Amino acid sequence: MSSRIALILLAVPALLAAAAAPALAQAEYNVLDAFEGHANVTATIEGDTLFIQTNGLPDHATQQVNPNTPRTADYTLEMPLNPEYSLNTTPTGMGAIGVMVNGVLFYNPYTADGLDAVEHEVFDNCLGHPDQMGRYHYHQAPGCLLDGTDGQLIGFAFDGFPLYSYTDEDGSTPTDLDECNGHFTATPEYANGIYHYHVTDSFPYLIGCYHGDVQIKNLQETGGGGAGAGQVTPPTGNASAGNPLPGGPAGNPPTGAPPAGRPNGPRP
Ligand SMILES: [Zn+2]
Ligand SMILES: [Zn+2]
Repeated sequence: MSSRIALILLAVPALLAAAAAPALAQAEYNVLDAFEGHANVTATIEGDTLFIQTNGLPDHATQQVNPNTPRTADYTLEMPLNPEYSLNTTPTGMGAIGVMVNGVLFYNPYTADGLDAVEHEVFDNCLGHPDQMGRYHYHQAPGCLLDGTDGQLIGFAFDGFPLYSYTDEDGSTPTDLDECNGHFTATPEYANGIYHYHVTDSFPYLIGCYHGDVQIKNLQETGGGGAGAGQVTPPTGNASAGNPLPGGPAGNPPTGAPPAGRPNGPRP
C-alpha cells in the first residue's frame, strides 16, 4: 500500500467521525463560564439542556426611572444546548424573550404602542428598567454587562441561541446580520460554529425575531409571550396553572402604575 493511499484511508474515517460528531460537543463546558461572577444567577447543565436559575434582579446598581420597583422572582429557564435552526422566523412577543448571563430578562424592541422602546422609554445607568410587574429588563445592549472583550457571550434568547456583544471573536463587527440580528459563525464557546444573535446600536438592538424554536416553558415561567400590544398579562390557562411565582407574573400590577412599556417621556 502506498503511503498516499494509507493517508486517505486514515483520513476518511476521521472526516466521517468529525461529520457525525455532535456539532456542539464542546459547547456545554464553555457556556457556563459566562455566568460566573454574577451573584443572582446559577447555570447548570443536565444532558443537553442548560438550566438558568435566577431571581431576575441585576447585580449592578439601578436607579428609579419609572414608578415601578424591581421585584425578586424565581425563574428556572431551560435552553437547549443544541438549538435547532429554523428556516422560518418567529416574531418576538411582549414580555421576556431571553435572559442575560447576569440573570436579567430582556425584552423585544417595542413599547406597548409599538414604538421603538429604546427611543421612547427611560432607562437607568445600566440601560434597564422594571416593568409594572417589577420585572427588571433590558431592551438594548446592557452597558454594565459588556466587559469590552470581543465575542462576549452575554445571554440566550428563549429559542436557546446565544446572544453576543457587538463583535465576533476576531474583533470584527458583523455585516451580515439577518432580520433577527443573527448570523452563523464560530464563537469562543462554539468552536464548530453556531447561529447566534448580536447586540447592535440600531434597531432591533438585541434580537429582531427568533430563528429557532421558542421554548414555550420560558415564556410561561416569566409571564412573557403575550401577543397584545404590550399588555403584560400573565399567561392564561395551562400557562399559569400551578405556576404562581413569588414576585412573578401572577397577580395584579401595582395600583396606579402605568402600563409597562408606555412612553415615559423623552429620554434624558
Ligand atoms: Zn457573530
Ligand atoms: Zn421595558
